Amino acid sequence: MTRDPRPIAMSDQPAEKTEKAERRQFRAIKGTRDILPPDSALWNWFEQSAREVFESYNFRDIRTPIFEETSLFARSIGEDTDVVGKEMYTFTVLEQGIDDLRRAQDTIVSYPSPWNSPEHYEVFCRFVERFIEQFRNARSKGLLPKDQFNRLMFENLERDFAEFEGPGSGPTQQLIESVQNHADVIEIGTYLALRPEATASVCRAYIEHGMQTLPGNQKLYYAGPMFRRERPQKGRYRQFYQVGAEVLGPSDAPAIDAEVLEMLLTLFNRVGLANIKLYVNSIGCKECRPKYVELLRAELRKVKDQLKEDSQRRIETNPLRVLDSKLPEEQAIIEKLPRVSEHLCDACREHFSKLKDELALRGVGYEENWRLVRGLDYYTRTTFEVTAAGLGSQNAVCGGGRYDGLVELLGGPAGIKGIGFAIGTDRAILSIQESGKLPKLPGLAVFVAWMGAKAYAPAVAIAKKLRARGLAVELPPEELKFRKSLGLADKLGARYALIIGEDEAASGTFTLKRLADGQQDKLDESALIARVESELRGPNAR
Ligand code: ATP
Ligand code: MG
Repeated sequence: MTRDPRPIAMSDQPAEKTEKAERRQFRAIKGTRDILPPDSALWNWFEQSAREVFESYNFRDIRTPIFEETSLFARSIGEDTDVVGKEMYTFTVLEQGIDDLRRAQDTIVSYPSPWNSPEHYEVFCRFVERFIEQFRNARSKGLLPKDQFNRLMFENLERDFAEFEGPGSGPTQQLIESVQNHADVIEIGTYLALRPEATASVCRAYIEHGMQTLPGNQKLYYAGPMFRRERPQKGRYRQFYQVGAEVLGPSDAPAIDAEVLEMLLTLFNRVGLANIKLYVNSIGCKECRPKYVELLRAELRKVKDQLKEDSQRRIETNPLRVLDSKLPEEQAIIEKLPRVSEHLCDACREHFSKLKDELALRGVGYEENWRLVRGLDYYTRTTFEVTAAGLGSQNAVCGGGRYDGLVELLGGPAGIKGIGFAIGTDRAILSIQESGKLPKLPGLAVFVAWMGAKAYAPAVAIAKKLRARGLAVELPPEELKFRKSLGLADKLGARYALIIGEDEAASGTFTLKRLADGQQDKLDESALIARVESELRGPNAR
């Protein structure tokens, strides 16, 4: 990965001056967006539905940080993938208190020639001494990234510096350059990335907290924003949202895969996603996949001339990804390639066939798709994807699969298996909106139309009581004229206007008006509460 030359300074920017000069409006950054009411209610409902379904399968919430070390993602997702290669938001953060070290590093690296002047030489040596001292100091305080490469480069720098022979000497000239080069590659800041997905973070947390010692498999779910620097378009954003689930533990029983898929479809049915299709495949394990990949590569080389640039490159870097190609002119060629299902080892073939039995047992409908390889490196055996209607070419609402070696790859215990998926919440919501089948969500229940100073105290009191029963109540902060009050109740979409005038205040009653049909009743407090609750919560509630 390339080094980020400009670390983020955590100090305040002199922003005031420029802002005064240019009072411009701010807009959300390209590829990000605001989710406003009433849409936000749909989002909450979707995420809440996911929580309820997942918890009914005994999955529990895990919350991991939004940023992690860049190398966590590079190592798990794979350096050669689009996500890591070009889509990650990375930045470098300097710990507080090492600004001087950074300055000393910059000075050494950019120290100008000529070298033969004794003054130049003396000054340079002083800078190197200062750098060495500050580096040691920062390291002992734990302010530097713990990195093998860094340690080595620092040792080399010290060794070269110890051999300096004075100004004007030939050997020193070379040593100086070597010191500069070593100083240049020493990492002072920590490389961080906004998470492009959460599986790597969940595995990191699993390992860090020794969760393998907990009883049974760990069944975890999450919901939150992810970040990828892609070209924004319909269903594709730079900050997008996922809800996902992972099962981590010693077992890789096909019933786990099947349960995960059953749970997924249960959720999609519950939220009413239209035309969903589940595609399933097995891409083998570390025993059989490499052999298949070699075979695929050999076959692809034979037809290289007929493929476009991206696929030509992938023949060498990641031949499985060629199967992902959507280019019409490549389809006929791809159809003739050897299929992974014909090259699975016995164990993988049996796992896949048991998975299919399990899906049948659970009534989970699916289609086999031998070309479903998925974009991330860590998948083994089961892979799957769900598509839905109304999304154009970005029609995948969920992707997932098994990743049996990932925990070990990230430095965790051997033999821990994993499977999981991530649902693209933006796309799921979009599909539901496009289908027009929106759920009926509870809106504003009661608008308290109070008039006259004497009505205010009873209005405040009844609003509080209704709210305590979980009803949404709007209480105007200032007195409104009767017509205006009812007009506003209507515009806000309230179910009822609760009219409290001086009469009602005097008699301790309320006039409840149902806005849909204008029906109006005079009720005392307990009758009012009973009425509102039974209509909003009872069998005829919307
Ligand atoms: P795609 O092929 O559409 O780029 P992907 O394979 O990169 O998807 P995954 O990493 O498997 O996607 O993420 C799972 C789900 O997250 C996708 O099926 C999709 O619904 C959603 N998703 C991925 N990237 C984005 C994005 N940039 N904007 C919105 N949703 C996204
Ligand atoms: Mg993608």
